[in-house]
Amino acid sequence: MNRLEGFKKLGVSENILGALKKKGFFKPTEIQEKTIPILLSGKTDVVAQAQTGTGKTAAFGIPLVENLKEGIGHVQALVLVPTRELAIQVSQEINSLKGRKKLLIVPIYGGSSLEQQFRWLKTGVDIVVGTPGRILDLIRRGWLSLGHVSYLVLDEADEMLNMGFIEDVEEILQSTNKEKRTLLFSATMPQRILGIAKKYMKEYEFIRINKQGLTVSLTNQVYFVLSSSEKFGALCNLIDSEKDFFGLVFCRTKADAAGVADKLVRRGYSAEAIHGDVSQYQRERILDRFRKKRTSILVATDVAARGIDIIDLACVVNYNLPQNPEVYLHRIGRTGRAGKSGTAITFVTPQEIKKLYLIRDFLGASITRGKLPKASGSLGLEKNRIKTYIENSVRLYKHNGYTALAKELLDGESRAEDVVAALLRYLLEERQ
Ligand code: ADP
Ligand code: MG
Repeated sequence: MNRLEGFKKLGVSENILGALKKKGFFKPTEIQEKTIPILLSGKTDVVAQAQTGTGKTAAFGIPLVENLKEGIGHVQALVLVPTRELAIQVSQEINSLKGRKKLLIVPIYGGSSLEQQFRWLKTGVDIVVGTPGRILDLIRRGWLSLGHVSYLVLDEADEMLNMGFIEDVEEILQSTNKEKRTLLFSATMPQRILGIAKKYMKEYEFIRINKQGLTVSLTNQVYFVLSSSEKFGALCNLIDSEKDFFGLVFCRTKADAAGVADKLVRRGYSAEAIHGDVSQYQRERILDRFRKKRTSILVATDVAARGIDIIDLACVVNYNLPQNPEVYLHRIGRTGRAGKSGTAITFVTPQEIKKLYLIRDFLGASITRGKLPKASGSLGLEKNRIKTYIENSVRLYKHNGYTALAKELLDGESRAEDVVAALLRYLLEERQ
């Protein structure tokens, strides 16, 4: 157990040390180091601020699992999270931390079956991880009673505020018993969130991890200066320049995300988009394929990417410059996690360079200018993609606009393969 010395010192039990070992968590992160001992021993409430990707889930998950008792028969802890995706993720993470301890942890969110949730709740759930809307719904139906909880956790509190759930959160807080511990975790601390802490929490300990403590320090941050029309070609070159590219591409709008993913697919890349118009069902499918690396490029908007947490994400591309430092950090916080190195690439137009410098200076980050990778020019990497593209295209699309020209080209003296070869040359040279 030597490698887990850090966690052991914080007072973590052998059972959970075993679970941590299985997960590959050998060293506590800074926020874990500060919160776990307070939550294991003291009685105070806790407000903790640390950036995305710093391990906040385990910071409260480990103490919850340690402190809750087996076989209680009613809900002992409620964790509120902003999205369904996070409800699933956080419940899975806590579940993987519990070791041999017999605790039932369930995610509860809108869109999943109410009956199923009712059945779970009847069987004696210990920890509910849920989204505010659905939790409130269950409370109002009288299916969920929070009168005897020992812990209430507000996770990603700033996101719950951003997404307009704060009134629901307050109503839920009012329906819980007084003698519980309330824990609030957030990447940022807007006034409104601090207001909630003041109003609903007892004396609390405020823990803040400075930006320097971020795991993104492991991320190599690079920017490329290019015009909007050069972006797509540059993205393709970037993808081609890596042997097995696996990464997340951020776009500002739904239309951009859908458009970029669509163009990538047409070029034969394995890409998918998630944005606000993608149904919850689809979203989970898409994320699952990405997690299993069946899709290698995910194109996302900021909102849709909330809660995406993929450990081995080697690369994040900002196809558009993020609006502010928070969004920048949030995006790139998805790479360079858990001690692994990663690359964050930002595309900026000449007009946006100043804005990028503001972000860089605000964060005190080192973001260096990179040289755009050039197209390989040879067919090596592209052959399979072009083949896939043509096969798909012949099968899937109508080519009305092009058939007349195609006939004309094939009608002349030249052989069909020469015509196709000339078209390939045109396609590839255009990309340079
Ligand atoms: P946050 O909630 O602060 O955004 P998460 O709890 O989602 O961060 O953790 C970010 C990533 O780091 C997750 O993949 C998580 O499994 C991993 N992680 C958390 N704590 C550790 C640790 N002590 N050692 C290694 N990886 C960790
Ligand atoms: Mg979190």
